[in-house]
Amino acid sequence: MAPPRRIALATKNEHKLVEITRICSDWSVEWVTIRDRDPGTFPDVDEIGDTYLDNASLKARAVADALGIPALADDSGIEVDALGGRPGPRSARFAGPDATDERNLAELIRSIRGIPAAGLTARYRCVAASVAPGGGLVSAEGLCEGTLTTRPRGNGGFGYDPIFVPVGWDRTMAELEPDEKDRISHRGRAFRALRALLSDE
Ligand code: IMP
Repeated sequence: MAPPRRIALATKNEHKLVEITRICSDWSVEWVTIRDRDPGTFPDVDEIGDTYLDNASLKARAVADALGIPALADDSGIEVDALGGRPGPRSARFAGPDATDERNLAELIRSIRGIPAAGLTARYRCVAASVAPGGGLVSAEGLCEGTLTTRPRGNGGFGYDPIFVPVGWDRTMAELEPDEKDRISHRGRAFRALRALLSDE
């Protein structure tokens, strides 16, 4: 069965909204986003889950139930091996509960200072979830392996992209063109895998 016709994107993060609608631009659906609605109709969700999957499904379910149509959400983060996989699902709050992307980036650079370059392996992980109102969850995961640099470069992307160099590239994620990022990113991989699962249903 093809994906449903109207799907809500359960995110208030403008960067994610831009990336997800770009990655899924070939889905033949009408997207319902916070841009088209009164922000009050999109519920605020506390990301209290311990895992990406818990948080992605909490966000998608809250919006699917509030709007009465299927909803997609992603939960994502960066995992630094030398930090035991942190910040992981806490990536958005690494520098504190109300941290900005800039403060989180500065905190990560501070945390990895002094670690030899060879030990700076990391990955982005994204879980994309689709929830129907009152019902079923379908989810898929995407990974993007890379290394970190302590000198930020580039103005594209968001979050930790200026210090993340994907495997096989010599540019940071923030130096890639949008279509280059989508092709290799955790988010691109997760949403393409989700689409394949939804198409099989
Ligand atoms: P959440 O999924 O809303 O909990 O937030 C994910 C957090 O992980 C973001 O705020 C960023 O800090 C980080 N993150 C996730 N995906 C990316 C990405 O594609 N580039 C840079 N940072 C990302």
